[in-house]
Amino acid sequence: MPTFVRTEKCDGCKGQDKTACMYICPHDLMHLDKDGSVTGHAMKAYNAEPEQCWECYSCVKICPQNAIECRAYADIVPLGGSVQPLRGTDSIMWTIKFRNGTMKRFKFPIRTTPEGSADPYGGKPKADMADIANDEVLFTRQLHAGDRSQFVKS
Ligand code: SF4
Ligand code: SF4
Repeated sequence: MPTFVRTEKCDGCKGQDKTACMYICPHDLMHLDKDGSVTGHAMKAYNAEPEQCWECYSCVKICPQNAIECRAYADIVPLGGSVQPLRGTDSIMWTIKFRNGTMKRFKFPIRTTPEGSADPYGGKPKADMADIANDEVLFTRQLHAGDRSQFVKS
């Protein structure tokens, strides 16, 4: 079920050209209604094509104002319930609200290294983009060669 924006919480990412939800959506669905001509709410984001939303929750997790919610399936979260994540630098908190008012919170770690310290190449050579056009063998396929230790840390 698609996401929607709580306009009372959204601050339009303080007028930046590309808001956090626009930046993160893999389907390019989130838009900022700068002058309010589309939604009647100026400087608020909205999901422009709800039927295309694949509920990846990326926009929900990245929104700094916690302004985006995902309409839940009625069979697992009946009307009136909600499932809302709040992402921190090293953990994520899920707040589950039940229809009868019960609330439960679950907190999980999301990383084992300090934020910003990830090495995208992990000691391997940087990818050569020219290889994509010239060589059909993928970088990871060359590495594979039956040596599992290259991927699994003990
Ligand atoms: S990320 Fe959140 S605060 Fe920023 S524009 Fe989107 S909904 Fe609004
Ligand atoms: S849930 Fe995913 S696909 Fe849907 S609007 Fe948010 S980021 Fe885009």
